[in-house]
Amino acid sequence: MSYVNEVIDRVIRENPNEPEFHQAVKEVLHSLEPVVAQHEAQFRRDALLERLVNPERQLKFRVPWIDDNGQVHVNTGYRVQFNSAIGPYKGGLRLHPSVNLGIIKFLGFEQIFKNSLTGLPIGGGKGGSDFDPKGKSDREIMAFCQSFMTELFRHIGADTDVPAGDIGTGAREIGFMFGQYKRLRNQFEGVLTGKGLHFGGSLARTEATGYGLLYILDEALKCRGLSLNGKTIAVSGAGNVAIYAIEKAHQLGAKVVTCSDSTGWIYDENGIDVALLKEIKEVRRARLTAYAEARPSAVYHEGRGVWSTKCDIALPCATQNELHLADAELLVKNGVIAVAEGANMPSTEDATNYLLAQQILFLPAKAANAGGVATSALEMSQNSERLHWTFEKVDKKLQEIMVNLYHNIDDAAKKYGFEGNYVVGANIAGFEKVAQAMNAQGIV
Ligand code: NDP
Repeated sequence: MSYVNEVIDRVIRENPNEPEFHQAVKEVLHSLEPVVAQHEAQFRRDALLERLVNPERQLKFRVPWIDDNGQVHVNTGYRVQFNSAIGPYKGGLRLHPSVNLGIIKFLGFEQIFKNSLTGLPIGGGKGGSDFDPKGKSDREIMAFCQSFMTELFRHIGADTDVPAGDIGTGAREIGFMFGQYKRLRNQFEGVLTGKGLHFGGSLARTEATGYGLLYILDEALKCRGLSLNGKTIAVSGAGNVAIYAIEKAHQLGAKVVTCSDSTGWIYDENGIDVALLKEIKEVRRARLTAYAEARPSAVYHEGRGVWSTKCDIALPCATQNELHLADAELLVKNGVIAVAEGANMPSTEDATNYLLAQQILFLPAKAANAGGVATSALEMSQNSERLHWTFEKVDKKLQEIMVNLYHNIDDAAKKYGFEGNYVVGANIAGFEKVAQAMNAQGIV
């Protein structure tokens, strides 16, 4: 059995009931096979892959909190500190009922390579809880966030581990967590990113993941003599990533005709009205039915269906495994030329393989949505300097990072004979830097 398959078997055996983690490990390790083949004896001797797939530390803790009726609830909190070879652990906190250890491990594992690809000194980590923020009052959200941080604070720090937002964790939650951290430590430091602008947040962080997705897509299209101008785009999700992907797509001359949430989706033939979407999702925190009620050109559909829309480009921006093989086949039949992943691992393994086999331009999450964490690292730099950069400065750096990132994954794919396969390109480019740092630091 090959070294890669031995390690995958061991991961599956030692981490049962964690299918998303298995999926992420398989995808990454299989695409590293050309690199492993060149260094197999050394990697085996140093157990490099075994160390790579084992988190440096994983924390699981109780989070008790009291609702508005005086009832106590208990959720489970997680933080997986996966790899600190190139910098402090960095990765978001997900608050969603579907959260479990396997999901946090898959996200933390992916984060190692994504963070490496940004070219910035940040290691990989991820955390969260099975707490559901939907329908909770502000006071209940605060009670949960304070309780969560009352355990987490002892494990994180500006030079140790710097969490950020993710699904269910936006500016409000980061604010409550930051307040509690400061109170417990008596220290004002850049321990979280995605903070409010008046207490250390970075301009353009809110927009960064969605904007970055469009910057890398724009560069990849340009390198093929194509442009976003005039293209029709289908987007899934209606959260932070989706909203700012739609906004930037419109600025670059494309028309986005769909968005979705966990209950249904919108088709708007005139193009999604971003101001209305922001008002509904960011201010009113309402369902997408409110969008259709306010906009005559929009139709609301219950359930899934975004990928049945005829489009040139598909941008999955909601959650993992939301674009299935049947969706990929339909997209190709309808003439899609590119799929760029705003969410983490939104395409299933067979959907990804099908799109690659059809030679569709496919930009995988760890490259395509790296703009968020890259800008979080820029927020860390500003916190260290105790300075604020302008929106234009941060946005320009974000553009440079995404353009460089595209060329790095393109070069890595070419170097190993996989031209145009950015799944392989991203995994190899991300891995090489981490592996070198792990080698240099001895067996730790
Ligand atoms: P948000 O919570 O702001 O939005 C998530 C969106 O996806 C919502 O519209 C939500 O609908 C929908 N959604 C969530 N879970 C499901 C589900 N199980 N089925 C269908 N729809 C669902 O999160 P973000 O926009 O921040 O994150 C979206 C994705 O992007 C995630 O995969 C995240 O890990 C990834 N990402 C985010 C980054 C960031 O900077 N925010 C950075 C890099 C990656 P509803 O409101 O109904 O739940």
